[in-house]
Amino acid sequence: MALTGIQIYKLLPQTNCKECSYPTCLAFAMKLAAKQAELSACPYVTEEAKKQLAESSAPPIRLVTLKSAGGEVKAGNETVLFRHEKTFYNKPGLFIKVKASEGAAAIQARVAEIDAFKVGYVGIDLSVDGFAVEADGGDFAAAVKAVRAGTKRPLILVGKDVAVLDAGLAALAGEAPMVHGADASNWEAMTDLAKKHAASLVITGDNLETIADLTEKVKARGLEDIAIDLKAAGMGAHLGLSTQVRRLALKNFRSLGHPLVAFASGSGGRDAVYAAHAIAKYAGFVVLDRFAPELLYPLLVLRQNIYTDPQKPIQVQPGIYEINHPKAESPVLVTTNFSITYFSVANEVEGSGLPAWLLVCDAEGMSVLTAWAAGKFDAERIAKSVKGSDIAGKVAKKRLVLPGHVAVLSGELEAELPDWEIRVGPREAVDLPAFMKQAL
Ligand code: SF4
Repeated sequence: MALTGIQIYKLLPQTNCKECSYPTCLAFAMKLAAKQAELSACPYVTEEAKKQLAESSAPPIRLVTLKSAGGEVKAGNETVLFRHEKTFYNKPGLFIKVKASEGAAAIQARVAEIDAFKVGYVGIDLSVDGFAVEADGGDFAAAVKAVRAGTKRPLILVGKDVAVLDAGLAALAGEAPMVHGADASNWEAMTDLAKKHAASLVITGDNLETIADLTEKVKARGLEDIAIDLKAAGMGAHLGLSTQVRRLALKNFRSLGHPLVAFASGSGGRDAVYAAHAIAKYAGFVVLDRFAPELLYPLLVLRQNIYTDPQKPIQVQPGIYEINHPKAESPVLVTTNFSITYFSVANEVEGSGLPAWLLVCDAEGMSVLTAWAAGKFDAERIAKSVKGSDIAGKVAKKRLVLPGHVAVLSGELEAELPDWEIRVGPREAVDLPAFMKQAL
């Protein structure tokens, strides 16, 4: 049975030396109990304690990290089956596949274009995380170099021929790439190859018994950084296997406690559905066959939403935001600091071309109605935001527009801000431009 944080703490040296990168032994013990840290991070644990801590020390799903000069992609360390039980920690990396047969020049140009792709979502820049290079013929080492010339992001090298992969990996010295894929026929050579290049290794298989057997063999040969690619006939079967792997891993079945790799392919949008399924259930690395902004954007947003801590809403900084160069006669619109609420309002007003001051109140990251119901967005708080900002000195006409959903606050707000004209705006952000044109 897993130990509690306090039980683990009693087995630690209790010197608070911080070498594990946590401020105290207790903080480290809590992380161990939550399976978000590894016991090896503390160099002072006694052999006796190590034995007792063996079960509690390792996360049920091993953390696998791909590194390059352009960043890193982490997968694993998850502790729950459903996000609402706690949260998911490491967003699955989204990779785009290129084939060596495309030729070095074409690869470099395409990779550079994809590398530059960036979209904004509620104030966050989203982009792909890396590339997979498939050895399907041609000069593989040249293809890997061409990819590296077009991007600095982490790579997954895909192939079966150990000598060919070896040549490609030689171009990635000093990095921690991933190699795909080992199976029953080549696992020994692939393991040695991955160890030689400090790479992680993907094991492929179509049933859990074979995969579990292979992971144990690879670990016995000295490689721990393993991921799993489940080969299933169809999306339903893949979902079933992915769920079984996650369930078993969370029950501390170590042989399957590794991140999953999913290859999303298919025509007619099937690849999009496959990738969405993999992001939700339970891939750590998702490889897409093609790049298209209309494919990437919804997947990146889906991933962002699933991997946001449900207990910590995405927030923007409270304060005054200027939209379309407001002047002294422009109205002051009020909203909360929940990101999606802020961007809904800001985008509608910005798109209309009408100038406005947007007063964002600190409502602990909640949307308007939720914050009002929780007592975090009331007349007193709004008045405090107005008085705490310098907005009164910026406007000639003191007009404050409340969201229509909290029209009930207008009377109280008039009492709090007697020198301001309080107006009730529309309920939905989409109706703001028309309201501003007609009523202000
Ligand atoms: S390294 Fe070990 S002894 Fe030092 S603070 Fe961390 S847990 Fe405590």
